[in-house]
Amino acid sequence: MRCDTVVIGGGHNGLVTAAYLARRGLETLVVERRPLLGGACVTEELWPGYKVSRAAYVVGLLRPAVIRELELERHGLQLLRRDPWSYTPLADGRGLLMGSDPQATHREISRFSPRDAARFPEYEALLDRTARMLEPLLDVPPPDPAHPLLADLWPLLRMARAAVGLRRDLARVFQLLVGPARSALEGWFESEPLRGTLATDAVIGAWAAPSTPGTGYVLFHHVMGETGGARGVWANVRGGMGALSEAIAQAARAAGAEIHIDSPVRRIVVDQGRAKGVELEDGRVIEARTVVSSVDPRRTFLGLVGADQLPAEVVADVEAIDFRSPSVKINLALDGLPRFKGSADGRVGPEHRGTIHVGAQTLDELEAAFAAACRGELPERPMVELTLPSVLDDGLAPDGHHVASMFVQYAPHDLDAAAWDAQRDRFADRVFAMVDEVAPGFSERVVHREVLAPPDLERIFGLTGGNIFHGAMGLDRLAFMRPFAGWARYRTPIDGLYLCGAGTHPGGGVMGACGRNAAAVILCDRKRGRG
Ligand SMILES: Cc1cc2nc3c(=O)[nH]c(=O)nc-3n(C[C@H](O)[C@H](O)[C@H](O)COP(=O)(O)OP(=O)(O)OC[C@H]3O[C@@H](n4cnc5c(N)ncnc54)[C@H](O)[C@@H]3O)c2cc1C
Repeated sequence: MRCDTVVIGGGHNGLVTAAYLARRGLETLVVERRPLLGGACVTEELWPGYKVSRAAYVVGLLRPAVIRELELERHGLQLLRRDPWSYTPLADGRGLLMGSDPQATHREISRFSPRDAARFPEYEALLDRTARMLEPLLDVPPPDPAHPLLADLWPLLRMARAAVGLRRDLARVFQLLVGPARSALEGWFESEPLRGTLATDAVIGAWAAPSTPGTGYVLFHHVMGETGGARGVWANVRGGMGALSEAIAQAARAAGAEIHIDSPVRRIVVDQGRAKGVELEDGRVIEARTVVSSVDPRRTFLGLVGADQLPAEVVADVEAIDFRSPSVKINLALDGLPRFKGSADGRVGPEHRGTIHVGAQTLDELEAAFAAACRGELPERPMVELTLPSVLDDGLAPDGHHVASMFVQYAPHDLDAAAWDAQRDRFADRVFAMVDEVAPGFSERVVHREVLAPPDLERIFGLTGGNIFHGAMGLDRLAFMRPFAGWARYRTPIDGLYLCGAGTHPGGGVMGACGRNAAAVILCDRKRGRG
């Protein structure tokens, strides 16, 4: 079998790359190992009638250019705005509800600290200005200081102009981006429910506590998008996250791309330093002029290419990428909604719409949970982000029933599958008991559960170490350092082989930026007769 370009992996980034290449007339084939598309951005009917966003559960970072250029709305994408977007229920019946209505949010925060309520709009405005400064860098390949190009200058100049515009705020932006989230948040706010709620964005998916340097950037990364209609506001997708991947796949197919599921790649065929195609697990070989991998860099280089085909320093660079993950995903079917202590009745209320923060709700509790994971223990009070997507989309569960997503951390990164089998249900029960503290009777509503620990995320989704970002998002692994220095512009040491997944700039999350930037580089190389 022959094609012009073969894309390994039908996650959202692989599909985005395929769509852009096919639109430019390249005969493109996507090969995905699973029986469904989307990678970590999927909907699966785990139990009859219950459709679950099995891994990623909200969208906020998806680049507006991808939505517009691939006409994703025409191909079926429907975003459901969540407002209010956050609720932190406390055991004493109080709660912190935050949403797009500035007056309501001011009132809510005032109940904990009038000073914080007054400062919150200023904090949000600063994040917004910072995002405007950095956003131009997301949609282009990162500059390579070792090989500067004239084309790199434009986004850098735009960023420099925006930075100058920040004037006296520049120091505060710098502190936020390079420092620990903890010191930034303590500098801004005094009340714990607010600090703890905001800190979750700084540590989600990261092997880090709020006091770890660099978590300020992770916090910022998670407020960068506007897919939900406003800065940092995340949306649900009608039909679950898989409907987003399906819309991208539709755009790719409409442009002429072919997509094969159930087609795991065994190896990338390399001859004299050049990629020639891929060999599937069933022995079939697909010859191609260009091979693009959306699989994480460790699996691509050490698994599919093989260390023997690579210079020793590249092998060392790949081995140095940090794939430790603290994340556990719990998917649930419920026979009714949780009823929070502070809410009037059991019907859908504003508290059910957004992300509900349970468990570790203060900076100190988050630190303690991380410390436990570092000792190799499951924490007594893990951090939990609970969402109830069927509140906004009644097609996801049978009448009167609901599906729930719980993103939980911190778990030790090195427990193996057998260790998890011995304790996964006990851990889930501990998590449910924490929800019971704020919503009595929650545990009794659980009719089905799926607990996905890091080894499960690795086995099911092909994520090394269960790392949700295809490798840590520390400051040392961003821009021209992602996945490693010298190879951040989607090309690789193997001619004709490119990367397009979350392990590349600008990193993890359902953004589509990696896939779009990679396609731009491939098309540019073609124009120059390379690739
Ligand atoms: C539990 C969890 C929760 C998350 N929550 C969110 C969230 O709410 N919002 C958000 O924005 N992000 C979230 N993320 C992160 C986000 O989902 C990922 O960073 C992003 O989806 C990665 O996309 P990708 O296309 O680069 O890679 P992937 O989605 O990992 O796609 C890679 C694809 O390659 C396939 N593949 C692997 N090996 C082979 C092979 N040998 N042959 C063929 N195919 C292969 C895989 O099956 C997969 O389909 C979450 C991730 C996880 C795991």
